[in-house]
Amino acid sequence: MVAPIPNGGNTGMADYRRVLLAVDLTEECRRVARRARALAASAGAELHIVHAIEPLSLAYGGDVPMDLSSVQDQIHEQACAHLADFAEDFGVPEGHRHLVFGRPESEIHRIAESEAMDLIVVGSHGRHGLALLLGSTANGVLHGASCDVLAVRVGRDIAPEDDDA
Ligand code: AMP
Repeated sequence: MVAPIPNGGNTGMADYRRVLLAVDLTEECRRVARRARALAASAGAELHIVHAIEPLSLAYGGDVPMDLSSVQDQIHEQACAHLADFAEDFGVPEGHRHLVFGRPESEIHRIAESEAMDLIVVGSHGRHGLALLLGSTANGVLHGASCDVLAVRVGRDIAPEDDDA
């Protein structure tokens, strides 16, 4: 006997209400953004966007013998402006933009939980070998996420005709 599926078996895209798009603000992630926007539009879901500024001390192993605060301030200013431009391009309103500070994986998880997201969309390079062992951001987001995660393939091996520009 087949057990009844809760929710009448409706597990389609229309179940997503709040979609969180994670961006590193590179050209590459515009492809990811187009997917997320199309998906959110077809589901009638809210589209949110998150960018995490990685602390320089973290990127350089926490052992830099100089004061990085003014550099970090400049990075923050630039990220703020880039995120605003990016969000404008994809029609994401101000209240749905999240500029955060810390490790991307943990910050994406934190925002997804605090903002009750039901889908996270990230780009994935589908790396192999050592990079796979070390783990990419997409990998980190997938592990420990409290909601669904969609990984959109990005990178040089994507043929232009595969792109929905
Ligand atoms: P990576 O594994 O670093 O090449 O990044 C893959 C994907 O993770 C990107 O396409 C973004 O979706 C997401 N991502 C990477 N870095 C960040 C960041 N600093 N803030 C938000 N999302 C990020």
